[in-house]
Amino acid sequence: MDEIRIPNGATYAPVALTDLMAGAPLASRLLLGATLPGRLVSAAAFGLYAGHALRDWSVRREVRKVDFFGEFGSDVDALEATPRSHRLDEIAHLAARLESMETPAAPPRDELARRVNRHLTEFIAGLTDQRVLTSDRVREFTLAKVVFPFAMGVCDFISGDVAVFKDLGVLEPHVLAHEFTHRKGYFKELHAQALAYLALVTSGDPLLERAALFERMHRQLKVLSDGDFRAYHDHVDGLELDRDLDRALRALRPEPAAYQSLVSDTMRALYDQRLKLTGQNGLSDYDRGFTDFLWTFGRSGSARQDPALAAV
Ligand SMILES: [Zn+2]
Repeated sequence: MDEIRIPNGATYAPVALTDLMAGAPLASRLLLGATLPGRLVSAAAFGLYAGHALRDWSVRREVRKVDFFGEFGSDVDALEATPRSHRLDEIAHLAARLESMETPAAPPRDELARRVNRHLTEFIAGLTDQRVLTSDRVREFTLAKVVFPFAMGVCDFISGDVAVFKDLGVLEPHVLAHEFTHRKGYFKELHAQALAYLALVTSGDPLLERAALFERMHRQLKVLSDGDFRAYHDHVDGLELDRDLDRALRALRPEPAAYQSLVSDTMRALYDQRLKLTGQNGLSDYDRGFTDFLWTFGRSGSARQDPALAAV
């Protein structure tokens, strides 16, 4: 099989190069009372960053992309709306399935990242006949955490740098797969959601499968509650799940503190605009778009992949 490796050199730097670029001048002014040393560090970091980005870009041009509409009969601009009654049925099915599954212990994050990346690489290779090998590295901190307080993880599309900000428990394999899909050259959120879900749910690895099903249930609940905190928790009440699943679902919709909510709302609105300006439907692609993608795929008569993959 055709195989290419995106070097992702920036992901191996001990500190995110973007943080050095942005933070070094400020740090040097605070620590040394002078901005020049910081500016030199910042310029050096920029040089490294640009060099890595250029090398990745030149390899990424050889990537054969998944033809979403051809493979799944569904894409960002070809989504059918899921009926509300189906969303409710699906949540009930997902809850029953998740409760009946074994819960294997999660390995340390670096090992989990390798496992997730391997399955993602193989799943995409099954669609494109090309293995796109990428870095397994994940950071725990970048300044993006300050800018996007609502995000669970981020991927810098230019350098491929991925950060996951906290222990995400049952959901962690999905978030890793989502960010790693960006790293392989898929910039759209719906594509990252769909490939991450399908790669994990077909992996045969119970830990990864569980994360995919849990993400699907969480996104269905978000659509049904339409951003309303109380409605979300009322739905979760009605599921009467076992303690771990119940707690994990609630943790994904915490009551926002007033300040965080102001920052969140502002950044969310800006981010929504950015998605719309780049050929996406907006923030809704994470939940409404993702669940509609699976609904559309599951009923497709033209998809090359088996629509049964979208079933619960
Ligand atoms: Zn994303």
